[in-house]
Amino acid sequence: MPLKYLLAPSILSADFTRLGEQIAECEVAGADWIHVDVMDGHFVPNLTMGPFIVEACRRATQLPLDVHLMVESPERLLEAFAKAGASHLTVHVETCPNLERTLQEIKALGCAAGVTLNPDTPVEAIEPVLPMVDLVLVLTVHPGYSSQVFLPETTPKVAALRRMLDSIGSPARLEVDGGISAQTLPEVREAGANAFVAAHAVFDYPEGIAAGIKALLEQLD
Ligand code: ZN
Repeated sequence: MPLKYLLAPSILSADFTRLGEQIAECEVAGADWIHVDVMDGHFVPNLTMGPFIVEACRRATQLPLDVHLMVESPERLLEAFAKAGASHLTVHVETCPNLERTLQEIKALGCAAGVTLNPDTPVEAIEPVLPMVDLVLVLTVHPGYSSQVFLPETTPKVAALRRMLDSIGSPARLEVDGGISAQTLPEVREAGANAFVAAHAVFDYPEGIAAGIKALLEQLD
């Protein structure tokens, strides 16, 4: 039986003066995970949030916290994010000289281990670690900022990773992140993704968060 589709609102587009309230609204509206985009101002130009915010999210919801580390040398921060309450820690292949060891460290901390890659990085870069990961994240925009336009050239990557995961019988989640809306979601769903990050399409939806989530969930029925 295919895995259920999961929706993961990214708080990158949330109103931080009302963060707890907005996370609760996501939960009530049917979100499955809360996605946290961590940016360090080095690996990507933008600087966003650290373990303090993850800890605040942990107090605001029971949902799994899906933490995406867009940072140089992520291994130095894994323990702090795990202690703050992260459920999943996803690292970029571009930042991990010893990717296998970093993924083992994540598992040893009791978190689900995720790997991700930039739009310009070929899928072969992560192929060796696919048997050991719980989550594969495909960046469908260049990382760094919210409200970007989905890059259709990333869809074949989703399809390629779906084939690779199926060929090894992996139950790992295949997640997409960047420019996902009710309009772009069907394309990546058809390509084999089963977890969907959305920031702008949830938090900036004209009729509000609950309506934004509903519009996305309608594409997952
Ligand atoms: Zn992300």
